[in-house]
Amino acid sequence: MSKRAVYPGSFDPITNGHLDIIQRALTVFDHVIVAVAYNKDKQTGLFTPEERVSMIRDVTKELDGRISIDSFHGLLVDYTRRVGAGTIIRGLRAVADFEYEFQMTLMNRHLAGDVETVFLMADEAHFFTSSRLVKEVVSFGGDISGLVPESVHRRLRQKLSA
Ligand code: ADP
Repeated sequence: MSKRAVYPGSFDPITNGHLDIIQRALTVFDHVIVAVAYNKDKQTGLFTPEERVSMIRDVTKELDGRISIDSFHGLLVDYTRRVGAGTIIRGLRAVADFEYEFQMTLMNRHLAGDVETVFLMADEAHFFTSSRLVKEVVSFGGDISGLVPESVHRRLRQKLSA
């Protein structure tokens, strides 16, 4: 039986840290659905959900067939069941991630005991990479090469200098 997992997040935008988690997830699962979570009542973040999906698609072409890219709103556990996956993947960086992830995992378990959450750790090179920080650094003209794929870097520069 093929093992499918959902990797949810804001991905605003996708970074090399996210890509590292996707690649690791594919060593454990047969198929990974990268799912951009958005709020349909209010636009949050720098990029629209469509732009985020298109950037992810762009930088994961070589994984075609083993991953799908999607977006969703509403409860993550409902989405996970709807797409026939039994597992949620999350990435962990510093201890700072732990509290939030712990609360979210227990809430999801309360809502859907059959959906398991699995945590993966990225390479230490991505330890300080976050979508929030790369946006901040680019907005002040700082260098983020190596932290996001080149096409994402370009889109960030366009968006933040507009
Ligand atoms: P969210 O807004 O749901 O936290 P993000 O897009 O920021 O979504 O992140 C999605 C997931 O990827 C989260 O579990 C986050 O901890 C993880 N993640 C993000 N960046 C990294 C990184 N550099 N290394 C490891 N995990 C990461």
